[in-house]
Amino acid sequence: MKLHEFQAKRIFARYGVPIPKGEVANTATQAREIAQSLGKPVVIKSQVLVGGRGKAGGIKLARTPDEAEAIADQILGMNIKGYTVKRVLVDEAADIQKELYLGLVIDRERRRVVMMASSEGGVDIEEVAATKPEAIHTTVIDPFLGMRSYQAIGLASGINLPKHLFRPFTQIALSLYQAFLGSDAELAEINPLVIQGDGSLLAVDGKMVLDDNALFRHPKLEEMRDLDEEDPAETEARVNGLSYVKLDGEIGCMVNGAGLAMATMDIVKHYGGEPANFLDIGGGARAEKVAAALRIILSDPNVKAVLVNIFGGITRCDEVARGLLTAIDEVKPNVPFVIRLVGTNEKEGRAILAEANFPTATTLAQAAQMAVAAARGETL
Ligand code: GDP
Ligand code: MN
Repeated sequence: MKLHEFQAKRIFARYGVPIPKGEVANTATQAREIAQSLGKPVVIKSQVLVGGRGKAGGIKLARTPDEAEAIADQILGMNIKGYTVKRVLVDEAADIQKELYLGLVIDRERRRVVMMASSEGGVDIEEVAATKPEAIHTTVIDPFLGMRSYQAIGLASGINLPKHLFRPFTQIALSLYQAFLGSDAELAEINPLVIQGDGSLLAVDGKMVLDDNALFRHPKLEEMRDLDEEDPAETEARVNGLSYVKLDGEIGCMVNGAGLAMATMDIVKHYGGEPANFLDIGGGARAEKVAAALRIILSDPNVKAVLVNIFGGITRCDEVARGLLTAIDEVKPNVPFVIRLVGTNEKEGRAILAEANFPTATTLAQAAQMAVAAARGETL
């Protein structure tokens, strides 16, 4: 789950990272009031879950409350990379002398959290990695020892920070690590971390991605989820407890079990088709869950045929068959279906479908070939 800049920065601040004073506004009038109460030049920042807002015109300086109102009015409602701006952060403007980068990610190959720092901040770090990799310094954190001060000092010296900033930089690095750990994050990034005219360090931007699988431990963080910015199909999958990954093909797959879902995708490809998604409806799926899965699959306009592959164990085939019919009745799909049911109560399941004029396939190979043909518009 991605957090907005203002959310990430508030978390960072709780752990001791210095951030600018500021508040979130939903209207231009609110932006004016915030600017007024800050009593200083401000920066108006669109809050959307994408990077590069600055370049897209979603971040602008305002010297007076009047200007803050005018700029907020201009930024609110703006479309940035497909997201409509509904909120802006009004922050005290920073006096930027230099922009640095500081971030934490999980390095899966090393099986460790890695901190990265660069003197080339403010710009896309992927770009720095591609064009000037020597400007990125990293340190690998031992999960049992945690991050140690000397590691932060190593980074500070690597990016040629002035000596007097080593101590505040170390404090920020350790705080960021604690924020990352304490939130079960996958990524925590300050870009830019700036050196101001008065020599102080300040986190001007903040980005955080939380591990969805750990959110149950953080109900307060879960509440920060912005449904407006989540793909509706993914939201529906999440609330219904389905694992769904959208892909680019044309054969929608509804399967129980992650392994079977992978095998189904493989065999679809084997017969020359392309799966439109990975979807695991899980064990013991009831009608509502099947209906949700169907809605999700059919919300993808690329889907030209649906392949249902159910292996009945705890999940009973007759239950799935009934669920499917209810779902089909509700969703009224206009694409062909190929259904394969095997396992517990498969006879009953097939009979229910046959009665409703839905033929079933017996083998997965047969089902996959039928689905590929159906997606091409050939008759079954
Ligand atoms: P991003 O473009 O989405 O990464 O948004 P950032 O918050 O990183 O802002 C982009 C750029 O705007 C920064 O790299 C800065 O150069 C500039 N910027 C952001 N806040 C301020 C500020 O308070 N003062 C000044 N002078 N520039 C700012
Ligand atoms: Mn940034």
